[in-house]
Formats: sequence, C-alpha cells, structure tokens
Amino acid sequence: MFISDYHIHSEFSGDSNQNMKEIFDKAISLNLEEVAITDHLEYDIEGMTEKWVLNLEKYVKKVLEYKEMYKGKLDIKLGVEVGIQPHTREHLENEVSKYPFDFVIASTHAINRYDLAWGELQKDRNKEQLQKLYFETVLDNVKKYNKFSVYGHMDFITRYGGEQYRGLEYKKNFDLIDEILKTLISKGKGLEINTSGYRYKEDRFYPCTDILKRYFELGGEILTIGSDSHIKEHLTMDFNIVYDFLKSIGVKYICSFDKMNPVFKKLK
Ligand SMILES: [Zn+2]
Ligand SMILES: [Zn+2]
Repeated sequence: MFISDYHIHSEFSGDSNQNMKEIFDKAISLNLEEVAITDHLEYDIEGMTEKWVLNLEKYVKKVLEYKEMYKGKLDIKLGVEVGIQPHTREHLENEVSKYPFDFVIASTHAINRYDLAWGELQKDRNKEQLQKLYFETVLDNVKKYNKFSVYGHMDFITRYGGEQYRGLEYKKNFDLIDEILKTLISKGKGLEINTSGYRYKEDRFYPCTDILKRYFELGGEILTIGSDSHIKEHLTMDFNIVYDFLKSIGVKYICSFDKMNPVFKKLK
C-alpha cells in the first residue's frame, strides 16, 4: 500500500490538537513504513504571530523521544513546515539550523506579512493579479531560501478568497511557474504532492498534474506525498489518487528524507 505520509501536523501546531502518539499508532495501523511530523513554524504574520509560535525546543525533544520509542515499528522523521517570506529568511534559517531535522517543507502561507487566508490580499486584487503576486513571491522565496527539502502545496493559492479565486491560471503563470521549478531543480530541492485540496473541495491535489508533469519533464525527480492532516483520521487520505497518477505517467520513485538527504523509494 502506501509507503509514508510526509506532511502531518500535531498538537504543537497552532491549528491542531492532535495528540502525537495517536498519529504514530494510526500510521502503524495503516501499515506505513514512515511518517514525518511537520508542524508549523511561522514568523511575523499580521495578527497571527502568537498563534504560530512553535516551541521548537519542546517539539524536537518530543518527536525524538517517540522516534526512539517506535524504533523497529515505525520510522519517525523529525520534520517541520516553515512558512517562508522573503524578509524572514535569516531568522527562520537560523532556527532550523539549530536542530537535527530530517525534512523541511517550505511553504508560502503569507505575502507581505498577510496570511493568504486573512482576506487582505484579495481586497484589491482579482484572481489573475493575486495568482501573479503569489507565484512572484514563491519564486523570490525559493531563490532566497536554502534550508528546505521540498516546496509545499505549490499552487494552493486557489484555495482562498472564495469561488471567484478558484481554478489555477496555469498558462498565464507558465513562465513564473517554470522558473520556480527550474530553481528548485537546480538547487536539488523537491516538490511535495499535497492531498488536502480534496478536503477543501478543490477536487485536486497540489500542485496540479500539469505542473507535476512539467517538473519531471524539466528533470525534477524529488517528490514526497503528504496529507497535510491536522487530525489523525486524515492520514494518507486520497493517496490512492496520487499513486495512480504517478504510475500512469511512469514515475517509479518517491523520496524519504534522512537528515535532509533524499532517499529514493520504489513505488509499490
Ligand atoms: Zn501549509
Ligand atoms: Zn501543513
């Protein structure tokens, strides 16, 4: 069945109450070989800075304790999802460098200090303008940041702002997206496939199949799959659709990460 789930939030995230041990027991019941816990680390977001404080000291200690406890039963990876902005690079990279992370997801959750879900960014922008701004920011972020393994839910900008913002304008943003993919590939960074889109009624995973095909066409090969679950019931949700898609385009491997190094695992 499925190998791993590489995007999981627990009680240490500002938006989850999920007990960590229950995640690992659920993962074992799903016959997973490994999981990466990837709680949110964010910095300097308007009105939300408090919410997103992650106590890294306690968090890392807890994950490492469980890693030891579950040895031989489940391979637990110390991960984190870093919400990046161009001006927070130094602070976040310093924080990440202090701990022995296996895996870091870099995501763009905010632009100019405003969370994408907050509504401010949509106020004076239509869909086309918002998507252009988003991908310009992602490009800036991936050029500046170095301490990450994969880029998270790369085109999930369609999730926020209501109906009029739904639907990715891939052709209009083709050049920007291409440059993002080329930058990731040249830096040896991967992409994650994030299945949360189905839960947001988008009827797709992030990024869309066109972007994924393009990533492989350009020579990309580092890929992880994550549910972005905030409750244990969402672990590996809709992974069957991703596995079927990857097999249909001839992809044979996904990645695990060990101390930030990708390890290729054959798709079952
Ligand atoms: Zn995210
Ligand atoms: Zn997440």
